[in-house]
This record gives sequence, structure tokens and C-alpha cells, in this order.
Amino acid sequence: MTNEEAIKILEKMKARIVPLSPLLEGKSKDEEAIDIAIEALEKQIPKPPKMGYAFPEKIRAVMTFRGDNERAEAKTDCCPACGRPLGTSKFVQSQTGMRFGDPYCKRCGQAIDLGVIADDK
Ligand SMILES: [Zn+2]
Repeated sequence: MTNEEAIKILEKMKARIVPLSPLLEGKSKDEEAIDIAIEALEKQIPKPPKMGYAFPEKIRAVMTFRGDNERAEAKTDCCPACGRPLGTSKFVQSQTGMRFGDPYCKRCGQAIDLGVIADDK
């Protein structure tokens, strides 16, 4: 069974859970457990990176203050789940020392589809 198939089954199970009384807020424990399982399974399915800034907002602000707009505006492959730069471009590797092609995000654990990384800028 693939993760996608397991997620479909979990979603069907979730739909059969009797909702909490409308007087109570939030999810039932069963619903919460299924949501956690679905989230964990989805993180194991490799997703292509998305483009984002190579440096965090505070560092970019310092770069801009120093007139280094080119580095401040540099974009690179980032985690599709949390936005962390993945270190897949030579530019980011040279600036951060991250190694090429981590198959998982080091912050959130999202699996990354390395077949779709962008060309170096
Ligand atoms: Zn991430």
C-alpha cells in the first residue's frame, strides 16, 4: 500500500467519526490522531521544491541595509512545506556551506523530489 492509498483510507475513516457535540470546541481524539497520521504520511511523499528567498528576513534586512541587494533578493529552492532553503543551488551552498541535494528538509522532515530542482542562478 502506498502512502497516498493509506491517506485515502484514513480520510474515509475520519469521515465516519461521529463529530463532537457542537457545544464542545475542537476535534475528538480520534479525529486528531487521524490528522497527525495523515500529516506524517504526506511528509514522506516527495514534493518538488518551491522558489523562495535564499536568506531569512532578518539577514536580508542587514544585506539591504549594507547595499547588497543582489544577495538579499537571491532566490533558491525551498521546502514546499515550511519554506526553509534546501541548499540545492551552488549559490546557496557557497553562502551557507549546505551540501547538495538533501532528500529531506532538515527543519520539518518533508521529503523533497530532487528531480525537479531549479538550475543555478
Ligand atoms: Zn521544511
